Amino acid sequence: MNAPVKCPNCKEEGKQGYIYSTHRISWSESGDSVFIDYGNEVLIDQSLFKISKTPAYRCEQCKLVIFSYDKK
Ligand SMILES: [Zn+2]
Repeated sequence: MNAPVKCPNCKEEGKQGYIYSTHRISWSESGDSVFIDYGNEVLIDQSLFKISKTPAYRCEQCKLVIFSYDKK
């Protein structure tokens, strides 16, 4: 993502930054709580040494974050 990303809700330009997590970030189409995340699609995998940061855009008004994930 190089071009500025606009918020899909208010259409304002998103603020550029990074998101990161000490754990993986997964995607599920179900909103049910889980005890283990087996079977879900991992968008950002957990790293053992350094925590990698993923470029992201956020809208502070709408509390919305947009990021592009990269499958490894
Ligand atoms: Zn917005």
